[in-house]
Amino acid sequence: MATKYIFFTGGVVSSVGKGVTAAALGRLLKERGFAVAVQKLDPYINVDPGTMSPYQHGEVYVLDDGAETDLDLGHYERFIDVSLNRVCNITTGQVYAEVIAKERRGDYLGGTIQVIPHITNEIKRRIGLVAKATGAEIVLVEVGGTVGDIESLPFLEALRQMRSDVGRENTLNIHVTWLPHIGATNELKTKPTQHSVSELRAIGIAPNMIVARSDYPIADELRAKIALFCDVEERAVVPMVTTPVLYEVPLLLERAGVGDYVLQKLGLEARRRPDWSEWERLVADVRRSKPKVKIALVGKYVELHDAYMSVREALHHAGMAAGVDVEIGWVHSAELERNRGWDIVRQADGVLVPGGFGSRGIEGKIQAVRYARENKIPYLGLCLGMQLMVVEFTRSVLGCEDANSTEFDHSTSCPVIDLMPDQRGISDMGGTMRLGLYPCELQEGSHAASAYQKPLVEERHRHRFELNNTYRETLQAKGMRFSGISPDGRLVEIAELADHPFMVGTQFHPEFLSRPNRPHPIFVAFVRAVAERAGRN
Ligand code: GLN
Repeated sequence: MATKYIFFTGGVVSSVGKGVTAAALGRLLKERGFAVAVQKLDPYINVDPGTMSPYQHGEVYVLDDGAETDLDLGHYERFIDVSLNRVCNITTGQVYAEVIAKERRGDYLGGTIQVIPHITNEIKRRIGLVAKATGAEIVLVEVGGTVGDIESLPFLEALRQMRSDVGRENTLNIHVTWLPHIGATNELKTKPTQHSVSELRAIGIAPNMIVARSDYPIADELRAKIALFCDVEERAVVPMVTTPVLYEVPLLLERAGVGDYVLQKLGLEARRRPDWSEWERLVADVRRSKPKVKIALVGKYVELHDAYMSVREALHHAGMAAGVDVEIGWVHSAELERNRGWDIVRQADGVLVPGGFGSRGIEGKIQAVRYARENKIPYLGLCLGMQLMVVEFTRSVLGCEDANSTEFDHSTSCPVIDLMPDQRGISDMGGTMRLGLYPCELQEGSHAASAYQKPLVEERHRHRFELNNTYRETLQAKGMRFSGISPDGRLVEIAELADHPFMVGTQFHPEFLSRPNRPHPIFVAFVRAVAERAGRN
């Protein structure tokens, strides 16, 4: 069959869940037997979000192939349970970099390079790559930002052109908007939706479906009104009221008839009946009241929870498996240094230090690690959290008081976390980064091995520094166990303490492989240890 394309645009305001809607629709189509992939088009000029502050952008989500991508890719992978690859996230920066490189090579000799057709052609070329790279039969394409933004115009123009390139019958436009609520009169307003649809039409794109997001119930008359003013069928206006349970969105779309409608419009027949029993169980499980456990997440971007999106999701997936409700206590590590925020750490039954870069708040994180080690509180360290677990141990147990990672202190007398010798001298940011899937062998009898229940695993990485091998033996002699090692023996992937209920650090990011229906074994083992401690208190 010809590849089908579903284009998602956003109207009125951003952050209303366009990514989740696209991810959920992907699931509906997968449930009907189709191979699906989702691609995000990001209008910013950075080549990828890797160098952007999490405050600006939220988490950087890493794929199997090492691509550093938008956090929406995390939603896509979690909802659809597919592994995407680097063609699934395009930025304006990548598109221009490619076109300018070609221009310098002389590929367009004699030509004037313009947004139309050169930039739009490159965008279309990259959209076309998704089906080939992933084997998808239906490609969902989400445009970042909202209609009306200057920087998304070339993307929208490319989508407009694609409708004729691949055939109108093979494409569908879905516009996700927001209905503001006026408190004084207690009514929802459709005017901003009407405006954003007319703006979309001015660009040459007519929506086939409108997903109307709101915090309040949407009456049928309002649906009819949106249909009338925006020229879409009434059954193609999908009311989507905010739900506290993210994983309920596919069920809501299914109930609204979206899956069947979309297939019909694309001229497709479902290959099988969707089976929602697992999702329904999942959602019921989330809603069921369970004993609460508290985990202190000690990070430096804690004001913006999106910066730890996958960690938060992985904790909740693991909570479901362990039969507990994980409540996250957000702790700013720099606050701990000023003796503030410790009450949250003390009330918690587990401590988690996630990944991070840069020296702000490092000492606060080390203090949190020490607290967890000394008080035998279950601890999970992710990437930087693993490195600091090793630093703290070297300081307190090996007695090297200024031990550190050379990322934070070049002149430390114990550089227990360091660059590998072959990485030195590379200055391009990202050039030395270990990114993507790497294998890891587990040591029998360890926490890690008993969590995974298999001898060899592959996990996603995003870091520059590694455990310094010259310290391995000394650390081991004092009770640190290297329970995960790269198959060539060169790199420590997991460190844990033998003499502790659960103190595990992973050099990789297990959170990126946790799925609601397949919680990550390391997170499950951690949350079980936390629940056990909470039960004893
Ligand atoms: N900053 C550390 C490194 O580069 C850890 C990175 C991370 O936590 N993702 O190795």
